[in-house]
Amino acid sequence: MPARVYLSSPHLGTEEQQFVQEAFDTNWVAPLGPHVDAFEKELAARVQVPHAAALSSGTAALHLGLMLLGVKPGDEVIVSSLTFAASANPVTYVGATPVFVDSEAATWNMDPARLEEALADAKRRGKRVGAVVSVDLYGQCADNEAIERICATYDVPLFEDAAEALGATWRGRPAGSFGRCAVFSFNGNKIITTSGGGMLVSQDKVLVERARFLATQARDSAPHYEHSTIGYNYRLSNVLAGIGRGQLRVLDQRIATRRAHRAFYEKTLGELDGIGFMPLSPHGEWNGWLTVITIDPARFGATREDIRLALEKENIESRPVWKPMHLQPVFKECRMFGGTVSARAFELGLCLPSGSNISELDRERTVSTIRSLHRR
Ligand SMILES: *Cc1c(COP(=O)(O)O)cnc(C)c1O
Repeated sequence: MPARVYLSSPHLGTEEQQFVQEAFDTNWVAPLGPHVDAFEKELAARVQVPHAAALSSGTAALHLGLMLLGVKPGDEVIVSSLTFAASANPVTYVGATPVFVDSEAATWNMDPARLEEALADAKRRGKRVGAVVSVDLYGQCADNEAIERICATYDVPLFEDAAEALGATWRGRPAGSFGRCAVFSFNGNKIITTSGGGMLVSQDKVLVERARFLATQARDSAPHYEHSTIGYNYRLSNVLAGIGRGQLRVLDQRIATRRAHRAFYEKTLGELDGIGFMPLSPHGEWNGWLTVITIDPARFGATREDIRLALEKENIESRPVWKPMHLQPVFKECRMFGGTVSARAFELGLCLPSGSNISELDRERTVSTIRSLHRR
């Protein structure tokens, strides 16, 4: 059996180990230190946002961000339905209720028209909306300019979940630069990784300073441990920040490689009847995180699941598109606006091996397995 081909696995460059060694040599093996400070500065510069707090995960960044935007128990928070559960779970951590909105066809991200409906509906019901969480799915930005305008009209803060979209842009603006604050994830499957980690970024210096304070157990300034508020243990380790600094230096290479994978898949699968691709908007630059195909079973002659199982037999990992949150048992009581676009993306969509470390042979095996199922 050939070695397993993963969807998206860590791909280290050449400098990570030096940074980690430096952390060992200087004994900065703690959730603070020079790499944490430098990683924050370097990431902030990359996404053109002045302030950043390095945290233990993207989920932790979403949790702190919601608190710092003033989301309160009993509030509603409007979230894109087509996403990973980590976009919605933190809404419940702060005692608020998620309300989901469907995707637009052009990007598979939050449909601005549906968002407007959801905001108008909450207003009619007299419900306070604490925040809007816009997700940049699979490395492509949502129409965050339109979403920002609508949020401004309703005076609701926008929170950009750019966990999957580091390096992407929308109308020239970097992912993570929209809204009041934004998050990135450096989990092992993301475009760059620290093995686990996240970042909260914002134009608002006070918000980011407060995030660092809450993330380090909310210690007031005193010689003893003094606390006047509830804190969290959410800071990123200086060792892992070292990995992040090395990874940032190869981000552009990773983007180029992943985008080339999609170009290859388009060239080799694109002409098959029944195969489509996640739409890419001409208004954005996609970071290439995952290549997603859609399979129309009537035209292709096999289903999404047939293809997934055939790839699995070849030891190739693929995965259905995120199951929308409004279809998840845990969120079944939540309100939903629209739903057919995200449901269809889930039903027909399959993520193909997209890691920057897969070989040309891996791609070719993936393609030939899929081609072998076409109208057999
Ligand atoms: C990965 C991811 C997160 C969570 O990030 P972690 O670092 O894994 O906690 C949040 N939102 C989206 C859209 C993600 O893909």
